[in-house]
Amino acid sequence: MTLRLGQWVQHGELWCQRRYSVGGCLRFGGDHPLMQLELTGQSQGILRGRRVVFRPLWNSVDYLHESNKEGGTTCVATGLVWHQVGPTGRVELEIADGSERHGAGTLRLEWCGQNGPVVVNMPRIEFQFIDSDLAGPPHLSEPFVLTDLPDHVEPFDLSDPFDPPDLFEFAEANVLITDLFEEPVRFPPAKRLNDAQAERQLKRLLAKLARYGIALEVCDHFTPRDCYRLLTEVICVKQRVYPETAGTAWIQSFSTWEFCETCLTDFQECEF
Ligand SMILES: [Zn+2]
Repeated sequence: MTLRLGQWVQHGELWCQRRYSVGGCLRFGGDHPLMQLELTGQSQGILRGRRVVFRPLWNSVDYLHESNKEGGTTCVATGLVWHQVGPTGRVELEIADGSERHGAGTLRLEWCGQNGPVVVNMPRIEFQFIDSDLAGPPHLSEPFVLTDLPDHVEPFDLSDPFDPPDLFEFAEANVLITDLFEEPVRFPPAKRLNDAQAERQLKRLLAKLARYGIALEVCDHFTPRDCYRLLTEVICVKQRVYPETAGTAWIQSFSTWEFCETCLTDFQECEF
């Protein structure tokens, strides 16, 4: 089942500065915690390489404010993991009115996370791009910069609690990733695929891994094909994970940095 969350978003922020990564935050109404996004994939069009804040131009904020006053806080699915990882689908902003700095438009954000496919479709938003050289997440304590937000919208705050996962005894990470899957999963070797096919298979594999809270962070030197090869030839067949984290909010994250010669060289040359 696809979760459709667009109508509940009060405001949000996306960080698309890195080449194959989409981070961000979504604020929902009521008692819902801040949803944090650490997604793997590329944004499209004008979002690429940029950081943007947005909020809906429709009246969902007022609606949520009213419904929350009445004690209605279950607008967003229960069981939702509030720190989402997984591959992106479309991540696109179409400008309808205004400049490339700020204005009105349509936002479409798709990914496959721990809860399966998610779509955030916001047909009428106000947006503003933020100058930021940050390669990673910005400081979330920065106030939301749109000028005329309603009083009851709070700035992002990292101290928000996220879903407390079920506690489990930390045993050794003892299961190969390929052994997590209940049914055998076949993924073709990277060398048999062209670039587009390799990226499709990469997204398919990442979607499967996201169900177990397993994510891949990608440095700027790895192509989707490189990522797919790394996952299928090294990480999934050689790395062990904690199977207990499936269905919890725990994330087990791997990164291409650890396998990238350029990153490792940069790291060694770094003066502390
Ligand atoms: Zn690298």
